[in-house]
Amino acid sequence: MEVATNLATIKDKIKHACERSSRNPEDINIIGVTKYVTIERTKETIDAGITNLGENRLEGFLEKHNHFKQESVKWHFIGTLQSRKVKDVIDKVDAIHSLDRSSLAKEINKRASNPVACFVQVNVSGEKTKHGLEPEKVLPFIEELKKYENVYVVGLMTMAPHIDDKEKLRTFFRKLREIRDEIASKQYSHAPCNYLSMGMSNDYEIAIEEGATHIRIGSKLVGSN
Ligand SMILES: *Cc1c(COP(=O)(O)O)cnc(C)c1O
Repeated sequence: MEVATNLATIKDKIKHACERSSRNPEDINIIGVTKYVTIERTKETIDAGITNLGENRLEGFLEKHNHFKQESVKWHFIGTLQSRKVKDVIDKVDAIHSLDRSSLAKEINKRASNPVACFVQVNVSGEKTKHGLEPEKVLPFIEELKKYENVYVVGLMTMAPHIDDKEKLRTFFRKLREIRDEIASKQYSHAPCNYLSMGMSNDYEIAIEEGATHIRIGSKLVGSN
């Protein structure tokens, strides 16, 4: 399927999810996750009008960034980031979605020359295989980040488990929104925390209904090979 065709379908579903939840589709940012696909397919994605791209591994990120750095694309690092690799991405990313520990924040702070937009990753489902902070550790962690002037917390991110139970998925997204609301209400200058990066190919409509501002879509947008 052409990316443009997939995108039209996704936009239609976004529109309906927004109608169901009285939201404005303009508040939903689609991050095209190109980790599965080639440079050619990534070009097609940009040509289809996607302006936010996401990669979860350093190699793929650098390859795509290097190739398309002249394009007006915003670059999102969405995967687990090892501290020693921060220096390789720090001048190239527009947002890091996987901030989940102090050592990583410290390294970002040290390597960045300007504040970097970060999403704090939360493990709302409690699955052992998932990265991210436990919900009750998020607030103290964000308070601790105050000392890092180059770490700017724009929001929270989560990955929901691969399950079909829509109402169960909804509880996880709602949980993330509740944590976000609590943090945003504190009005920290280093952590406005207005955004929610949640929702992937199989669950983005529910995520939008629960407040997602950034959905990360790979397979349903670009395909998975
Ligand atoms: C791969 C990936 C996605 C996109 O997954 P799809 O299910 O293909 O849409 C989103 N977020 C993260 C962190 C990923 O690694």
